[in-house]
Amino acid sequence: MEELNPFIIAQKQLDEAAGIMDLDKQAHKLLREPMQIVTVNFPVKLDNGEINVFTGFRVLYNHARGPGKGGIRFHPSETIDTVKALAAWMTWKCSLANIPFGGAKGGVICDAKKMSSLELERLSRGYIRAVGRFIGPKIDVPAPDVYTTPQIMAWMMDEYSKLVGHEEAGVITGKPEEVGGSEGRFNSTAMGAMYVLREAAKKTGIDLKKAKVAIQGFGNAGMFAFDLVTKLFGSKIVAISDSIGGTYSANGLNYDKLIKTKETTGSVSNYEGASKITNEQLLESDIDILIPAAIENQITGDNADKIKAKVVLELANGPVTLAADKILFERKVMDLPDFLVNSGGVIVSYFEWVQNNYGYYWPLEEVYSKLNEIITKSFYDTIKVQTDYSSSKNKKITIRDSAYIIAIDRVAKAMKARGWY
Ligand code: GLU
Repeated sequence: MEELNPFIIAQKQLDEAAGIMDLDKQAHKLLREPMQIVTVNFPVKLDNGEINVFTGFRVLYNHARGPGKGGIRFHPSETIDTVKALAAWMTWKCSLANIPFGGAKGGVICDAKKMSSLELERLSRGYIRAVGRFIGPKIDVPAPDVYTTPQIMAWMMDEYSKLVGHEEAGVITGKPEEVGGSEGRFNSTAMGAMYVLREAAKKTGIDLKKAKVAIQGFGNAGMFAFDLVTKLFGSKIVAISDSIGGTYSANGLNYDKLIKTKETTGSVSNYEGASKITNEQLLESDIDILIPAAIENQITGDNADKIKAKVVLELANGPVTLAADKILFERKVMDLPDFLVNSGGVIVSYFEWVQNNYGYYWPLEEVYSKLNEIITKSFYDTIKVQTDYSSSKNKKITIRDSAYIIAIDRVAKAMKARGWY
């Protein structure tokens, strides 16, 4: 049976990179487990007057490079192991981007789609009251993720500020601009991925104007990626999906029509004039670029050999399993790892935090130009490590391994400097 526990996957990815780079054994031991795990059970009053007890988590994986950083997911099948994996990946993401944060993640087991706005507000505030002692602008800074929004961040920031008795915009990022959010944060995850895609296309010789693209997922990341891929590069998006199903048209799909379809029918799969497809079919469709932008474990040992795309741009966290990683590598598919591709979100979160701390706000152009600079550098740093290993050490390693080597090395050096080993 293929390993699908995200935390075991995260540990194995670390082990593999640690082996390649010959990481100090003690540093390796420290990096295999989260430094702090908080589980809370808290009451929320539902609209029918009853109380429901929700379980939430906040994991601080490593803070050697700075306060914890990472989103909060509201997901019905959230588990502590998923949150631990995502917190580990945030550690590598912040380190690779070279921003002064450690890694963290939070989650609440709930079905946000079935809750009213008032219930969601009470849930968000309840979660913050429960984990309030463990977060803060200099401790651990949450942000949005799967099924959490800028509005939810605003409620959480408000609740935290009440808890500590003063305004504390920098406790959380991804807020609406009215309450300290940064220009450009709303689509920064997708925008960062576009800068990576631009450079990857140069390297692989893909003409983005003529490229056919499929996107799995229509949430915070996938929706904006759809808009940007067409606007910036003129590529044709032939397939898109959400949790209900997908739609395919060889002639390409239209963004405005897609938004309307989602709004009026609840799913992009009801797009008129195109064929209904499953999420599995989407992954295997005849395209140049595949953008998994939904959740973990989508490209596995079972379907990796059926992927026709030349480039996989991991916009979701953890969409490719260990077995799939090997298969894609052998098949010479350029698989760009999540903690590089989707780091635009946390990079602009960092800008938001800096702006909150200064109380001085930047224009959109400045945000995008700084994001472009950081993420383009991460891409080339990563490619360079891959090339160096191949030429001087005669080791053929994946782009994921290269990114891990850079990220791990920085965290290990910070732990060493602090005297942790
Ligand atoms: N949830 C996003 C991620 O996985 C953003 C995290 C953040 O901004 O802290 O990268």
